[in-house]
Amino acid sequence: MSHYTPVDEIEPIYSTLDKGFRSGKTKSIAYRKQQLVNLGYLVKDNAERFQEAFKADLGRPVLENSFLELDSTITEIKQAISGVDKWAKTERPPFSLTWSPMRPAIRKEPKGVCLIIVPFNYPLWLAMSPLAGAIAAGNAVVLKPSELTPAIGVLLAELFPKYMDPELYRVVNGAIPETSKLLELSWGHILYTGSGRVAKIVAAAAAKTLTPVSLELGGKSPVVVDSKCDLASGVKRLLWGKVANAGQTCVAPDYVLVQKDFQDTFINALTEAYNSFYPEGPAQSDSVSHIISTGHTERIKRLIDNTQGTVVLGGQVDIETKFVAPTVVRDVKGDDSLMSEEIFGPVLPVVPVDNVEEAIAFINSRDHPLVIYMMSQDSGFKSKVLDNTQSGAAVANEYILHCATENLPFGGLGPSGSGGYHTGKFGFDMFTHLRATLDSPSWCASSSVSLLAATNA
Ligand code: NAD
Repeated sequence: MSHYTPVDEIEPIYSTLDKGFRSGKTKSIAYRKQQLVNLGYLVKDNAERFQEAFKADLGRPVLENSFLELDSTITEIKQAISGVDKWAKTERPPFSLTWSPMRPAIRKEPKGVCLIIVPFNYPLWLAMSPLAGAIAAGNAVVLKPSELTPAIGVLLAELFPKYMDPELYRVVNGAIPETSKLLELSWGHILYTGSGRVAKIVAAAAAKTLTPVSLELGGKSPVVVDSKCDLASGVKRLLWGKVANAGQTCVAPDYVLVQKDFQDTFINALTEAYNSFYPEGPAQSDSVSHIISTGHTERIKRLIDNTQGTVVLGGQVDIETKFVAPTVVRDVKGDDSLMSEEIFGPVLPVVPVDNVEEAIAFINSRDHPLVIYMMSQDSGFKSKVLDNTQSGAAVANEYILHCATENLPFGGLGPSGSGGYHTGKFGFDMFTHLRATLDSPSWCASSSVSLLAATNA
């Protein structure tokens, strides 16, 4: 039997949440905190079951599940619990002689019933992190997990009624028909995380109801290598960033830009790191994640089969077990198959360039990346890349970790997304309406008008 939510139940679910929201329950900060605590326990009490579900859906090693999903999820829920009192406080703008008598204030109000659409690659973290922000901000929420992670979808649908208030928080499982039905409704806010292709469908549907949307997308995030970098540690970090979750990470380093005369040295160092990661070869390793589906495995195989570059490490693909060996391809050109789309797999093309100026021009000739990575110890090199490019984020000598760095916003730019969240208050802000208020005392009614006139004179 399908675990999808019947399409005809979607509108009644929405009406229940709308009624729940209008009841005013979520106005209480104590209520929000209680729901956040419940959410924390939902994850913590069932960590073993989530581990099983990750294994079933993603074939991912236990350590990666803990580090990349369970730990970050719990941390972000805790941040919301400890931050919500302060975040939700009404703010006063800076003193102004003209306006202060009217007591201007900014109230932090929830947006209403919100929709969170989740991708397959981090099915728990990318559901719970925004959900924590939305709950802290006082919204009702429908969570729509990816149909590619059915074990997680089923588990969330089972656990939600046990831990969360069913009048405010629900899971709707499904694929295109169910999501299309959800998108016909009018929401306080939609947070969509996924591919740019589907983002256009979501944004177009949201435009019909004038629902505000945040888009967390992907794309090709480059690594710009400086030949004067700390190569030994740099390539290890890079390789980890590429192979974690089998490269199915929105901020995975997608490709490398390296100076032509440094390519050999770079590949040698990468080979050493590769051999230290997989002394028996990746197929024998128990720390390699698998690809989500046969279709995606075939897609990655096609990209490798069609490359004009030279495969120097890995290259093996087993469609049946959805295994792609971490792969490095050198001498890749800009029009190569591996440069035609986001790889979203453990394959690293190395593109030789003449110098950093050419690397910058290469990046600027493509969509703004979600992140630009730099491997360099030289502040002049890093400034040059930073000052002459645009991207969601820019990170030197580290990979992926900026998404979980406390109090840093996370998001893309244009084709890599719009509207940031993670971590802490940024998630709260996404789901909060800043409601401007004035409360003018009668004694200043006429004086304010004359003050205004005086100001404008
Ligand atoms: P996807 O776009 O295929 O699916 C995402 C969600 O959209 C799923 O819940 C799916 O059910 C729904 N969906 C799919 N087709 C739809 C349609 N026609 N109409 C309505 N809804 C539809 O993305 P994915 O393959 O699950 O995720 C991979 C992509 O997500 C990559 O591009 C990756 O870079 C990006 N991503 C971005 C972030 C970020 O925070 N920026 C995080 C993770 C993944």
